[in-house]
Amino acid sequence: MRWCKNCGKVNTEWPSRCRHCGAGLDGRLCTRGHSNPIDPRLSFCGECGQPLEPKSGAGFSPTPYLIALAVVILMFLLSGLILFIFKEDPFMAALFAILILVFGLRLVFQILPPGVRNLVRDAVNLLMRLVFGTGNKG
Ligand SMILES: [Zn+2]
Ligand SMILES: [Zn+2]
Repeated sequence: MRWCKNCGKVNTEWPSRCRHCGAGLDGRLCTRGHSNPIDPRLSFCGECGQPLEPKSGAGFSPTPYLIALAVVILMFLLSGLILFIFKEDPFMAALFAILILVFGLRLVFQILPPGVRNLVRDAVNLLMRLVFGTGNKG
């Protein structure tokens, strides 16, 4: 999920160009699609010398992070609820909790930028290793 500063709309996934208004989201784009730093003094591409597009949708927005955080919190609340509901049946509880975790993480991965995604994946791997032990060494 990528937020465009130029038109204020949200793009699904992580495109380098806004699907709504066409503004570059990686920085200021030239006519050939190279991304350049968001510096208003720049007017030509550092790579090919083509003029840069005046509009740019690049900029930090906390919205995707807040949504991802909300999804994670909701995920944990739901797993807690499932564990409570299926108190008598640990197998069903584990099954539903894992389903919710998988679904939630997929959603979070779609929202977060690719760099943060790898970080989350590493954290989950570490967590899994802590929970299930280091028995399966390949
Ligand atoms: Zn836009
Ligand atoms: Zn260029």
